[in-house]
Amino acid sequence: MKFIEEISRRRTFGIISHPDAGKTTLTEKLLLFGGAIQEAGAVKSNKIKKGATSDFMEIERQRGISVATSVLGFDYKNNKINILDTPGHKDFAEDTYRTLTAVDSVIVVIDVAKGVEEQTEKLVEVCRMRNIPMLVFINKLDREGKDAFELLDEIEQKLNLKVTPLSYPIGMGYDFKGIYNIYEQNVNLFTGDPKKDIEDTIEVKDLNTDQIDQLIGSDSANQLREELELAQGVYPEFNQDDYVKGKLQPVFFGSALHNFGVRELLDCFVDIAPPPRPKSSEEREIKPTEDKFTGFVFKIHANMDPKHRDRLAFVKIVSGKFERNKPYLHVRLGKNLKFSSPNAFFAEKKAIVDEMFPGDIVGLHDTGNFKIGDTLTEGEQIHYKGIPSFSPEHFRYINNADPMKSKQLNKGIEQLMDEGVAQLFTLEMNNRKIIGTVGALQYEVIQYRLEHEYGAKCSYENINVHKACWVEVDDEKSEEFQEFKRVKSKYLAHDKQGQLVFLADSAFSLQMTEQKYPSIKFHITSEF
Ligand code: GDP
Repeated sequence: MKFIEEISRRRTFGIISHPDAGKTTLTEKLLLFGGAIQEAGAVKSNKIKKGATSDFMEIERQRGISVATSVLGFDYKNNKINILDTPGHKDFAEDTYRTLTAVDSVIVVIDVAKGVEEQTEKLVEVCRMRNIPMLVFINKLDREGKDAFELLDEIEQKLNLKVTPLSYPIGMGYDFKGIYNIYEQNVNLFTGDPKKDIEDTIEVKDLNTDQIDQLIGSDSANQLREELELAQGVYPEFNQDDYVKGKLQPVFFGSALHNFGVRELLDCFVDIAPPPRPKSSEEREIKPTEDKFTGFVFKIHANMDPKHRDRLAFVKIVSGKFERNKPYLHVRLGKNLKFSSPNAFFAEKKAIVDEMFPGDIVGLHDTGNFKIGDTLTEGEQIHYKGIPSFSPEHFRYINNADPMKSKQLNKGIEQLMDEGVAQLFTLEMNNRKIIGTVGALQYEVIQYRLEHEYGAKCSYENINVHKACWVEVDDEKSEEFQEFKRVKSKYLAHDKQGQLVFLADSAFSLQMTEQKYPSIKFHITSEF
């Protein structure tokens, strides 16, 4: 197959949702269609079970699963599909943000009864800011839920999106009769049997004939006609260009559990979703079709076996072909590296392959060379943008609880931070280390992993920090900046890259500081 064809058949995407909306179930059904798995139940949920905060086995179990399901690759109708897993748990939101830098589009799953939930809002916001094309799947139609119009409204209002339905439910819950596929103009009747032939749709070219009355009864048929007419009046016609630009979000309805409406979703998805897109770097925009390989690390996973300390770095291929045993430039380190066993990801396994294409994720064994955000090229100095750190929500001092093991502790902290588990800030005043996280759960993960993987012990101590703000100043020699550094010295720290960070202890003090030092800018993300 030609290089260009390989690129255009790739669909690399993430599924985002609030926990329990049905992401795992939908993923599994998509894999079934691709023939990538044989039966339901093969995909394990990567959810942290409720109340599991102190259950370390649960965290390890979750980690194990998240290695196995990080990237799920399979073929469907001549398309190569790569699903990138995104943890739903809010404490791992930063992981998800980073993964979203590697997708070309997303599918948003929404529970028909619960509507738009908190995590959906946050994740969609990130996608919206980056103009990532989004397709919405409203799930659990076999249950009573909100009315279709009400939901579409809610999605527009709360998520600030512009939607257009490409399928439409006929009834719901107890009364759920099926789905009218606006995109394909056919009807799929719901029998409640997940094993029913999924290709079993009935073409309905004209809703005004009595064909539809015979299928679902006149009352339902009339209601469907009315609602569709209304929908056509209210919502814009689907337009692929707007969708790909992130300006219009098509909506599908279905039930992942009953494998209903999923084929329609997938067929439309492979049709309209974009192949790998160009990506901007600090230097220039890079097109997937360029013949030189470039890629960036968006995720690092430590080996689950503590005896083998190597890690797996996940690289999204942006341009060119990745080849085994070919030397590539690690731009940050300025050195050439060769990879003898690059991994490609399939639904149930990973395997060493000789070449991979833009859109694919390659897993590289790493002994400590990689950090999140690193770029690999064939020699060009390219730095990919778009993997910022966000200000953590929680802050604690980390102390060494075993003085004999300080080397192990420092190495462990450094590697866990490279993996992106949390953020490290070092106070300027006294070099004390502060760990910042998105959720409280990470502190336990870090403590547990330091002990089990590095043989080090740590304890935590509270510190009152409201937000970490990256400091930007035009003139470092200015009197104002010097005064700021002197007055606020207690609150100044450096992040892992050595950038100056102001640790504000309250929203009020941040505001006061901003007012007092107008020439200094305070950012809550590391990229500005
Ligand atoms: P995730 O947290 O988003 O990955 O959600 P899961 O896929 O684990 O689903 C959460 C729960 O909802 C599970 O008990 C599923 O069986 C159930 N579920 C998923 N899809 C449907 C559906 O279409 N209908 C019904 N009734 N339940 C569903």
